[in-house]
Amino acid sequence: MTYTTDVQTIFKALDLAPPEHNPTGLAVCTPIDASLLARVAVSTQAQVDAAITRAHTRYLSWRDVPAPKRGELVRAFGEAVRRHKEPLGRLITLETGKIVQEGLGEVQEVVDICEFAVGLSRQLYGLSIASERPEHKLLETWHPLGVVGIISAFNFPMAVFAWNAALALVCGNTLVWKPSEKTPLSALALNGLLLQTAQAQGLDVAGLSELVIGDRLVGQTLVSHPQVRLVSATGSTAMGRAVGVACASLFKRSLLELGGNNAAIVGPSANLALVVRGVAFAAAGTAGQRCTSLRRLIVHRTIYAPLMTALVRVFERLPVGDPLISGTLVGPLIDQRAFDAMQRSLEQARQSGAQAHFGSREEVGDAAAFYVRPAIVEMATQSGPMLQETFAPILYVVPYDSFDEAIALNNAVGHGLSSAVFTQDLREAEVFTSARGSDCGIANVNIGTSGAEIGGAFGGEKETGGGRESGSDAWKAYMRRATNTINYGATLPLAQGIKFEV
Ligand code: NAD
Repeated sequence: MTYTTDVQTIFKALDLAPPEHNPTGLAVCTPIDASLLARVAVSTQAQVDAAITRAHTRYLSWRDVPAPKRGELVRAFGEAVRRHKEPLGRLITLETGKIVQEGLGEVQEVVDICEFAVGLSRQLYGLSIASERPEHKLLETWHPLGVVGIISAFNFPMAVFAWNAALALVCGNTLVWKPSEKTPLSALALNGLLLQTAQAQGLDVAGLSELVIGDRLVGQTLVSHPQVRLVSATGSTAMGRAVGVACASLFKRSLLELGGNNAAIVGPSANLALVVRGVAFAAAGTAGQRCTSLRRLIVHRTIYAPLMTALVRVFERLPVGDPLISGTLVGPLIDQRAFDAMQRSLEQARQSGAQAHFGSREEVGDAAAFYVRPAIVEMATQSGPMLQETFAPILYVVPYDSFDEAIALNNAVGHGLSSAVFTQDLREAEVFTSARGSDCGIANVNIGTSGAEIGGAFGGEKETGGGRESGSDAWKAYMRRATNTINYGATLPLAQGIKFEV
């Protein structure tokens, strides 16, 4: 069976029409062997405008549906996704090259955030605040925002949409989603399932969750359209810089989830067996193509040699190969551009005198695809390519002497997404997670930098964009806050004791 027929079978299993073949459309290839999966139509400017208008019209009625009722749609959607976990996970693997376990894990995230959002649909509470005036009530209430535009990256083609969609829908908003041009099939499947679920509940689906397909030009239309009230954009820092500035100039809300250059500190007391497992998963898992992938390892000089020996031994045996085959732990890079960027960074590091282990291309079948053995690069100082995010499996390692120096190294890069410390020293753990510790949105102890749960707010500081998605109170980004002062007396006392008699 070719991967193209595999895609057809998946859509059949979801009870959805297979993606229409458009001979001049966007070519979608699988990174598994670089073969063509489908050609899908790109949305025209007029189609994107019409989709946004439909979403705005639908918003005007959706906002009046009680939130727990809106939650019923999200609950049924989550259940449908759970029932179809296997085909959805396989589609993620076909389109992104993630290993099957990680594809399934991503689908589980969709289920988890739906469950979270269903509970949230009964908890969109505001505040009751003591008023300084007699017979007055001071409240803070939360209301839907409008159309939420979602721009997503290739590496989480379903979960990123779900983090946004599940919350935005229970909050009373409607959606327009522009997925990555590399992964439109996952979007067609997941959005198709959402609309199928809505239809089964007798809901009007027009404008509830519109899908628009294309590259950055389509994204730019979402950003500039006056009826899109919030743009939630996930992707590179370069993309976020463009989207953030454009939104700011229109006084439009943006929620930016951008790149990461994540570090872990390994203290002298660390449990090295645990470190090796944690580091291998965080650095080599998903072929280093997670925003939270571990890219920098800051190791106490006294344990540097034994840790390096153990890591090199593990990396040289990592099963690199076809992500559909069980036992594979490292699948392919998304495309040649990613491979070239990786090789450029490795070359730059080598030229600066660093010692690079592995990182070259691996033969997998007769594939025209880009498989690599994850690299470990020993650096004398934190410099050169180590200061940037290269979206590929490269783990730079530097030694440190004092814990303050290690924290300074952790914080001395542009990004601020995820970080970790491996230590059994309570003081180090507490300092790392304190005000003078890691400056990242995620700071972990004795686990790697990747693999966040949906219960916590997810996002990062500095060049990661500052947005927060998923759990905790991230829902507030999808609503507008109103402060209400209600006078239930017969006089009109003014605040601050002001007298204004007329
Ligand atoms: P990318 O920036 O190339 O593309 C992301 C999305 O933005 C795509 O849909 C693309 O079409 C769109 N886009 C690009 N430029 C745009 C513009 N000027 N206006 C509007 N839309 C635009 O990123 P990618 O290669 O798909 O994904 C990898 C990057 O995403 C990495 O940097 C990774 O760290 C980051 N990422 C971050 C998170 C997070 O939650 N922080 C999650 C996943 C990925």
